[in-house]
Amino acid sequence: MPYYDEVRARLEERERMLSPFAAKSYAGRGRERAEEPSLVRTDFQRDRDRIIHSKAFRRLKHKTQVFIAPKGDHYVTRLTHTLEVAQIARTISRALNLNEDLTEGIALGHDLGHPPFGHTGEAALADVLPEGFRHAQQSLRVVEKLEGGGKGLNLTWEVRDGIVNSSKVREDIFAEGFGLPSTLEGRVVRVSDAIAYINHDVADTIRAGLMTEDDLPQQAVEVLGRSHSQRIDTLVCDIVEHSWEVTGQAKSDAVPIISMSPAVLATANALREFLFERVYMFESGEPEAVRGREVVRFLFGYYLEHLDEMQSDFVLPADPPWRRVADYVAGMTDQFALRAAEERGFS
Ligand code: MG
Repeated sequence: MPYYDEVRARLEERERMLSPFAAKSYAGRGRERAEEPSLVRTDFQRDRDRIIHSKAFRRLKHKTQVFIAPKGDHYVTRLTHTLEVAQIARTISRALNLNEDLTEGIALGHDLGHPPFGHTGEAALADVLPEGFRHAQQSLRVVEKLEGGGKGLNLTWEVRDGIVNSSKVREDIFAEGFGLPSTLEGRVVRVSDAIAYINHDVADTIRAGLMTEDDLPQQAVEVLGRSHSQRIDTLVCDIVEHSWEVTGQAKSDAVPIISMSPAVLATANALREFLFERVYMFESGEPEAVRGREVVRFLFGYYLEHLDEMQSDFVLPADPPWRRVADYVAGMTDQFALRAAEERGFS
């Protein structure tokens, strides 16, 4: 198939037309283990495809985002959240002439390590583990080790860097927190994650009857807009408009940053804080969340005593017991965790 030989070269040629600040697949830091390149895809496209075909990705559809076991079909799950992040991040990336394939790969992989029961499950694991637990680190562990029975997906350095640095601290969406991605594509995903959840969590909270549009802070409505789509649009357009800091007339003076205007950023941070106080803190005290936490704690204690009952290729035999149990429990979906606990005497 001689034609095939030209395809990847043509795709890489297209990457040369991206922004000088965009990551290029042919100039990246590469994979941990060298591989023959694909004939018809760049390395970043290939990484995205590997993530989509992974087991951890499939399980996202049965993992909680915020509302645990909601009675309705339209609540966001971790899978639909992930797809929304990818959509928003791709829009911004394309508008800024960045590498969409890298952006999409990071977005689709950023939450692979999220445990069952959303942040309440994460907090429960953090409590019982000697070195704590953060889902971004676990996402990295999934793609570096746990998928493929210990071999991982062998993704490029840029995708892994974007995944492990995708978390934000409570105070500010752009604060350095646990670390910033090295690529602008990674930074686009990091802020797109917040844009996605701020908006779908408002929608889900209204859907759950916990508030109405009228309860939203006045500033959020005035600056960002009245409807769900207006608010996303405002945030996305603001980032596109404010992301190259042009310090002079010449294009070469542009400083590569991903940012927002001060007014929109302050509003986004305020709306996010509103959700922390009104929704996330409230939800973590709800009976389903309390039960979710207890289930995670129970399973952790149970499997430490019964290591042989963990039949999973997500558990690596050479790891210390607590690490094996953490990987096993973190990999579970909500339903799997509940069933496993009930079958083992949890009530
Ligand atoms: Mg996320």
